[in-house]
Amino acid sequence: MSTLAGDFWVCGDCRSINNAGARQCYNCRTPRDRAAVDPESIDPSSHGPLRTIELPAFKGSRWAAALASILILAVAVMSIVQFSLGRQLVDYQARGIATAEDYAYVGSIIIVAIGIALLVAAAANGGGVLGFLLGGLFIALGVGRITLLRKGRR
Ligand SMILES: [Zn+2]
Repeated sequence: MSTLAGDFWVCGDCRSINNAGARQCYNCRTPRDRAAVDPESIDPSSHGPLRTIELPAFKGSRWAAALASILILAVAVMSIVQFSLGRQLVDYQARGIATAEDYAYVGSIIIVAIGIALLVAAAANGGGVLGFLLGGLFIALGVGRITLLRKGRR
């Protein structure tokens, strides 16, 4: 009985026998570190789960989901703004009155849009600090440029 010990592990939840290298139960997908039971300790006369499987602590992702929804709306608004600005720029180009500021302005809007998209990606992934940092930097850069352009016009 114990000749195979070490070459396999037994799932505590569904009693399936798994290869020693398997990282999760082939049958019920419970991770090995939560499910593995020492085969020597199993009472063959018993039935059902060998032990209660502890689930990982619940990590709420609601705030990230809500944030992602709001940011996706922001992306939609930004693409409308970009579209109308882009059309305006094309119109200015056609009439030959497009200035360097106009291009810089549209460029800045695009930078802000990239920043918001980065925030969406970060929120959708459950909130990576680097993603939020990068998104915030992009938005700050774009908004800063727009502010400078506005001041320069006056
Ligand atoms: Zn299992």
